[in-house]
This record gives sequence, structure tokens and C-alpha cells, in this order.
Amino acid sequence: MAVPKRRTSKKVKNQRRTHKKLHAPGFVACQNCGEFVKSHHVCKNCGQYNGKQVVEQ
Ligand SMILES: [Zn+2]
Repeated sequence: MAVPKRRTSKKVKNQRRTHKKLHAPGFVACQNCGEFVKSHHVCKNCGQYNGKQVVEQ
């Protein structure tokens, strides 16, 4: 059976699975109300997009 020649360093060990952390891509804060909205989408909270009222409530 294959056995590792060298002990894995702390650095290399800690570099594993760094790309698996949870994050929400493509979300930005609304310019009007600060709500988190998908970029390039109308804000569901206030109905504004790019500083203009797009959807009336
Ligand atoms: Zn908004």
C-alpha cells in the first residue's frame, strides 16, 4: 500500500477545500432601499431599477 513520503504541512492542509465556502454570487445592495437584490434585476422591495421607479406598488 502506498504511504505518504512526507507529512502534509499545515499550510498545504489548510489550503484544502478553500474553494467550497458558501457565498451568494451576483447580489448587490439596492441603491434606494439597501435590500439585497440580484444584479441587473428590479428590486423586489421597492420596485426600482438603476434609480428609476420601474414597478408601481
Ligand atoms: Zn430597493
